[in-house]
Amino acid sequence: MIYNPEKLKIKDEAMRSFIDSDEIWNFIKKAKVTEKRVTEIIAKSLSKKRLTLEETAVLVQTKDASLVEKIKQGAKKLKEIVYGKRIVLFAPLYIGNLCKNNCQYCGFKEMNKKVKRVTLEEKDLTEQVKALEDFGQKRLILVYGEHPKYDANFIAKTVKHVYKVKSGNGEIRRVNINAAPLNIEDFKIVKSSGIGTYQIFQETYHRETYDKVHISGIKKNYDWRLTGLDRAQEAGIDDVGIGALFGLYDWRFEVLALVRHTNHFEAVYNVGPHTISFPRVQNASNLSIDEEHIVNDEDFTKLVAILRLAVPYTGMILTAREPENIRNEILQYGISQIDGGTNIEMKGYTKKSKKQDLESEQFEISDNRTISEIIEELIDKDHIPSFCTACYRLGRTGEHFMEFSVPGFIKRYCQPNAILTTAEYLEDYAIPRIKEKGYKMINKIMKDFDKDEKLKIKILNKLERIKKGERDLYF
Ligand code: SAM
Ligand code: SF4
Repeated sequence: MIYNPEKLKIKDEAMRSFIDSDEIWNFIKKAKVTEKRVTEIIAKSLSKKRLTLEETAVLVQTKDASLVEKIKQGAKKLKEIVYGKRIVLFAPLYIGNLCKNNCQYCGFKEMNKKVKRVTLEEKDLTEQVKALEDFGQKRLILVYGEHPKYDANFIAKTVKHVYKVKSGNGEIRRVNINAAPLNIEDFKIVKSSGIGTYQIFQETYHRETYDKVHISGIKKNYDWRLTGLDRAQEAGIDDVGIGALFGLYDWRFEVLALVRHTNHFEAVYNVGPHTISFPRVQNASNLSIDEEHIVNDEDFTKLVAILRLAVPYTGMILTAREPENIRNEILQYGISQIDGGTNIEMKGYTKKSKKQDLESEQFEISDNRTISEIIEELIDKDHIPSFCTACYRLGRTGEHFMEFSVPGFIKRYCQPNAILTTAEYLEDYAIPRIKEKGYKMINKIMKDFDKDEKLKIKILNKLERIKKGERDLYF
């Protein structure tokens, strides 16, 4: 169904914009950057308190190299003391690239006649999911263009189908969604299919820029998009992901707006967004954007560190849009999830050649490593890969908040689940070299449990059961 935002039900209309562009710019312009102030703000974040807009503005205005380094080191410390070394892995799966919108930056825009339009039929979906399972994936994000064909029932049907597809020991245990905003009734339909997170990126929170880069289609309506996740909340989806597409407008403004969006959720629904994404615009088929606001690597690294400090208990996602060197550097500043083995071409996971085809994908990705290469690199760099889906499946909502605020939560649940899901991967999918490295890493981490003999025995028991062939064991 195609929505006409002008004719929506009262409850939908009640949702109004909460972004005040003048307010955000005032905070940025009035920010007073001193060493003392920056140090105080970092200390506040390290004491596990969310930053205000005024404090975030001070950080985005910090230009002195030694103070920027302090911000990065603060983010690194926060990540280490709060979240530990885990990195959760997932993969995107493009379900259909039909689209009625014309977003300047996207290869799937309706006016791009060069792109091949594909919608996965049930058989294609089965093949793609089996291929992903055979690589060892357990968590997917399904991605859809905005088109009448991709209504709530279609989305729900594809989600249910993905959960049903099994290949060997493989299964998908969590399906997240990145699709257009819906109305409340339709969000309820999608929720009932058992989704994890519903992601909608505002792209740019700056109204005039938003209007300029969205040439036509429903997505041109700023307020309909901005309030999309409020309607999701009203429909009972309390696990939502926000994001901005960096490169469309001033990055400092977008960072403050993301913090404002977070505050809005906390104030109205008592729970912040589950995740924040910060894609940078990449090359795409028929790309046409103004280059004025392109974010360089230095500012990008800085903004990730600032976001970590500003919203300490929100998950942060870094995707394969970014090249390997940037991903490796930024991981340490507070990233909790990355995609691995990504292919965003339609039916791309069963394709033999690794060559990218711009005419079949939304934009170019820069990190083409396989999931196996990513896992090896994570282990080598002392991160712990995790495919954990326990909180969502046990109804433990507010997972990142618990990780952050419940003493011992990470040690009791997250770390053991990372170990168990890595062990499953090592048993079922790893080549001998990675299997050896992986178990070495697990043995090393097990030493952390020496002081809690009871828990240690429970984890070792589960590890033995996995080695004997049992699957899906978690705490
Ligand atoms: N069609 C839906 C929408 O627009 O929300 C969902 C899927 S869209 C395919 C997913 C996201 O990809 C968009 O929200 C946008 O942020 C991002 N994207 C689009 N074009 C991009 C580009 N050239 N570079 C990087 N990210 C891009
Ligand atoms: Fe369509 Fe989404 Fe691409 Fe916009 S970003 S053209 S809505 S697929």
